[in-house]
Amino acid sequence: MSRNHQQKKERILVRGAYLMTQDIELGNFVGDVLIAGGRIVAVGQDLTDDRARIVDGTGNAVLPGFIDTHRHNWQGALRNLGPAWTYQEYRSRVQIGLGQYFDPQDVHIGNLAADLMSLDSGVTTVRDESHISNSPEHSDAAIAAHWESGIRAVFDHGWPSTEAEQWQFGSARTHPDDIRRIRNEVLADDSARVTLNAMLRGPELSTPEVSEQDIRLARELGLRISMHVGLGDWGAEQQAIRQLDKTGLLASDMTFIHCCTSTDEELKMLAAHGATASVAGALEVFMPGLGQPATNRLLAAGVRPSLSVDTETIVSGDMFGVMRTTLAYQQLILAGAAGSMDRVPDLPTFDAADLISFATIEGARAAGIDDRTGSLTPGKEADLIMIRLDHHNLLPATDVAATIVAGGHAGNVDLVVVAGDVLKENGVLNGGDTVFEEAAASRDRMFHAAGLPLPA
Ligand SMILES: [Zn+2]
Repeated sequence: MSRNHQQKKERILVRGAYLMTQDIELGNFVGDVLIAGGRIVAVGQDLTDDRARIVDGTGNAVLPGFIDTHRHNWQGALRNLGPAWTYQEYRSRVQIGLGQYFDPQDVHIGNLAADLMSLDSGVTTVRDESHISNSPEHSDAAIAAHWESGIRAVFDHGWPSTEAEQWQFGSARTHPDDIRRIRNEVLADDSARVTLNAMLRGPELSTPEVSEQDIRLARELGLRISMHVGLGDWGAEQQAIRQLDKTGLLASDMTFIHCCTSTDEELKMLAAHGATASVAGALEVFMPGLGQPATNRLLAAGVRPSLSVDTETIVSGDMFGVMRTTLAYQQLILAGAAGSMDRVPDLPTFDAADLISFATIEGARAAGIDDRTGSLTPGKEADLIMIRLDHHNLLPATDVAATIVAGGHAGNVDLVVVAGDVLKENGVLNGGDTVFEEAAASRDRMFHAAGLPLPA
């Protein structure tokens, strides 16, 4: 895989599936989806089309592809290193420890590995939070991988992982100027499969002056903004959302990632300005240091959050695990297991159907691409997946949303279509055959450079 993915844009009629459209007017029903020219042409019952290839969806679920609104794709070849790490361990070992040794080709293979595992598990859009902008070539390599894999990607240009300590927690450095070149020369088209956003540090990770300057730069370039906030005690102290509200910078073009220790009042400010949120439910539960998932508190503030994986060094890169763990945390709190968080039972709760919408249409809204994807709505681009419900782990699929959330995994994902292009069919992912060797070689090279013992 060293060239751009060749789009075939087939004409396909999926018949007789249980459609979970995530379109409020269409709802869920047993029916058909016609795809042509890369778009969803029709959704309904008893559709016919003489030219389309027929895919039998009987007994299976068809839904929009999952949308991961926050993944550090560059770490794809460092997958599953530390499921028991704390935030400080992750930061010192990966961001500070290994990030400085990444060459552009390491970013390329990391991104490609992350994209392919995403596609395999039914993620059709990833928002790549790329804080590996060590040089313009690093960013170009990350973007190239997205073109090659066939995934829909929102590339969020971030800061370097060289001198990582200088770029976070009170940093006085402004956002790398290379974002102008990328905007003007590389990702100028906002309707393309790969688009550009700005991953900014904001008032929590940089000075107020830098934060304001960066935000103004992103808006001058016409870019949506993502920002990590509410990170542990530091986030509670800084109250980034409050600072942005006070300075008039808080707006609907912003997605706030984590929000674990953002106050309830800040979440209301976020809602009042029409901003969006990304809960990394699995990562926040697995990795001590950030705080707890803010899902229920966001709902109380009037925000339906999107969901995200974050770093595959700690949690699996599929949305099944994210949905399941996000729910597990709510249930743990309802069981009274959280001491000071015992007030959560008074807050609104969510169920499996909500989680599917968080992982699809709400993700599209957060990434600012809900005019194009996130639901099975005629006219939108054809990003959809089919999940087999007759597999042993899912049958008899009494409640489909509950079945997918409680028991689903990548192996149940039978069909994956992005912009009308079939990337996985009959449970087999197209391409990527050499990625395993390249990812292992990249990991070995970086471990060697960092003086770490090579894995057996
Ligand atoms: Zn993150």
